[in-house]
Amino acid sequence: MPNIKKVLRRIKDCMPCINPSPMEENLFMIRNIAQKDIDWTFYPTLVEIYTWLDSIIEQNPKVVSSFHIGRSYEGRLIRGIKISFKRGKKAIFIESNIHAREWITSATATYIIKELLLSNKPDVRKMAESLDWYIVPVLNVDGFDYSHEKDRTWRKSRRPVNDKSVGIDLNRNFSYRWGWRKAGPSSVLYPGPHPESEPETRQLVDFINKGIPNGSIVMYVALHAAAQCILCPWTHTRTPPKNYKEMMSVAKAFTEALAVRYGTQYKCGSSATILQKFSGGSKDWAYAVKGIPLTFTIELPGRGTKSRFALPNKRILPIGREVLDGFVGMIGAVKKLGYI
Ligand SMILES: [Zn+2]
Repeated sequence: MPNIKKVLRRIKDCMPCINPSPMEENLFMIRNIAQKDIDWTFYPTLVEIYTWLDSIIEQNPKVVSSFHIGRSYEGRLIRGIKISFKRGKKAIFIESNIHAREWITSATATYIIKELLLSNKPDVRKMAESLDWYIVPVLNVDGFDYSHEKDRTWRKSRRPVNDKSVGIDLNRNFSYRWGWRKAGPSSVLYPGPHPESEPETRQLVDFINKGIPNGSIVMYVALHAAAQCILCPWTHTRTPPKNYKEMMSVAKAFTEALAVRYGTQYKCGSSATILQKFSGGSKDWAYAVKGIPLTFTIELPGRGTKSRFALPNKRILPIGREVLDGFVGMIGAVKKLGYI
């Protein structure tokens, strides 16, 4: 039986706090009090993800610690967990659901967390224990909630920009070459009024700068959907980055290990060669500004029923399993390169 006080506190963390009336607060509580346990047969809400995180933290106190990077524009807590089996390890940072509608990313991130902690397969154990894992399952908490409650296809954050437009594409709001491609407030790709103008982006940057020992992160992974590929920098030019060969060897190890289970094929290359060019994304910031040597976007599959982002529930588990296989291959390659 869950501790009711804890449940209520957790629900409050997921509640928008811009002047809610007592009535709104009560309604939010009532709507969220009945939660389902995450089992990868459905797409969980923010409250369900945070309640699950609490149970994971409680069950693994020696290995797992909770962190938060701050609050979103609407006041929701942006939470993450650190998994660390041994002291003094290099780190990997996984950021997920920066785009609200890409629900498969947080579903996959939670699956990875579970397997890192509970799997008894030797190759998964070896991978889990070779690194410190920082994982933020839902970065764009306001947009994520909005996509559950109002608009399944919502992508941006939820800060009003002017009378007509709401939201910033947070993955265009990072500082590296910010605003290189112009897009106005009504565009789904609007990068915001200036670099790191948004609380979600700015606090993520602050957390990485101040909350994690400098130089310890060797790999940054941003989970997205639905282009089914793994991408390294750059996003704004097709000129390859300095250690392109290294990054491609890691990306290939991911795609090859991922394909074994169900034959799923992922493309690999730089963002600008596989997708359309843009700038202000987190991966290029992590590589160019933060100096993390291996940075990737992993685009999970799409082709769902209603839209590219609405993958049927039955796809969640197979995608989790094959992506975990991919990570085992990828971390093996990182080890071969001597980074860990
Ligand atoms: Zn995305």
